[in-house]
Amino acid sequence: MKTHSISRRKFIHNSAIAASGFPFVSSLASVSRAADSPSRKLGFALVGLGGLSNGQLAPALRLTQYCRLAAIVTGTPSKIPTWKTRYNIPDKNVYNYETMEQMADNPDIDVVYVVTPNALHAEHTIKAAKAGKHVFSEKPMEVSVEKCEQMIAAVKKAGRMLGVGYRCQYDPNHIECRRLAREKVFGELKSIEGGFNRNITATEWRVKKALAGGGPLMDVGIYALQTCRFVSGLEPLEVSAKFDPVTDPVKFSEVEEGVEWEMTFPGGLKTKCTTNYNRNDAKGFTVTAEKGTFGLDPAYNYNSSRGTRSDGQAINLPAVNQFAAEMDDFAHCIMNNRPSRVSGEEGLRDVKIMMAIYESARTGQRVKLASL
Ligand code: NAD
Repeated sequence: MKTHSISRRKFIHNSAIAASGFPFVSSLASVSRAADSPSRKLGFALVGLGGLSNGQLAPALRLTQYCRLAAIVTGTPSKIPTWKTRYNIPDKNVYNYETMEQMADNPDIDVVYVVTPNALHAEHTIKAAKAGKHVFSEKPMEVSVEKCEQMIAAVKKAGRMLGVGYRCQYDPNHIECRRLAREKVFGELKSIEGGFNRNITATEWRVKKALAGGGPLMDVGIYALQTCRFVSGLEPLEVSAKFDPVTDPVKFSEVEEGVEWEMTFPGGLKTKCTTNYNRNDAKGFTVTAEKGTFGLDPAYNYNSSRGTRSDGQAINLPAVNQFAAEMDDFAHCIMNNRPSRVSGEEGLRDVKIMMAIYESARTGQRVKLASL
């Protein structure tokens, strides 16, 4: 793995990373103490200037300690002037999807953040890897196991690092739920129930199978799936699933309108999740353990998760900007040659499980999961 040797003059303790309660905060502090040379932030290139890049990622980059927006990749020339002016991006750092590989000659860019429709993540990741860049891909990592494996192989061949945008792994309240589960504060886990539903317009690429790969499961159901794995620290042994009835056959002619699925984990933990594109009524999760319950609702908002415990205590730690925290953590991983908690392998596990969920919903059979 090629790493960046970047030292820090100063560690600011109230950074997004510190606020997220990371175990590596002390190691960051020691890095900074040892440092006495000027620091450089890692340059990020955003690929795809749609809703997430515009509304969340570019503003979040301004809040990071270790990253800066250095470049953009877009297929829409009319967006370029505004982005150049707003983020002070020079002409030489503006690319389109065909010229991305020319980034190889651009030392301003360290990390390429892929924010295009799901089924384009592999294409853009592989181009970035060929240009010798580290890659951070939005979730879901891709739309098939094979394409995820191609991404992992390409980035590995380039000797770079691959991460996936699982922002909730940086949310303090999700981290607190994981602590309650792993420290068995309420005893052994029995069940987790959760879901993420949202209404969607019919014109989006999200209802086109070729670009989205699937419906709400690939888009937002993945958050409920991640919760079950992240909170419990376990991998599912088998899944069973069924599609929701289709109430809008025009809108949902290519992808599922909704799906519910159950997973069985080692030790007997059972989970039950829902996801649907035509309802707006599930945004959280409840964990039931031997001696009580806890959970978050809402769980998946960008900056405002909160929840309760059955002993009456609130789960309401101060919010961090999850996107700033995930990007700072990825930069820190690169700088210190430390594996990312949201690695390509982690993204691949979810895609394997989602494929099993689809198989079960299609066949009506339980699907066993091989070792993840
Ligand atoms: P969007 O539709 O708002 O933006 C997508 C961008 O990709 C647009 O700029 C569009 O021009 C570009 N694009 C390039 N080729 C395209 C093509 N062939 N068809 C359509 N668009 C094309 O989507 P978004 O909401 O920004 O989502 C982008 C990615 O980010 C998705 O993978 C999505 O799952 C993910 N996402 C993650 C979060 C999160 O909270 N982590 C939130 C929203 C979206």
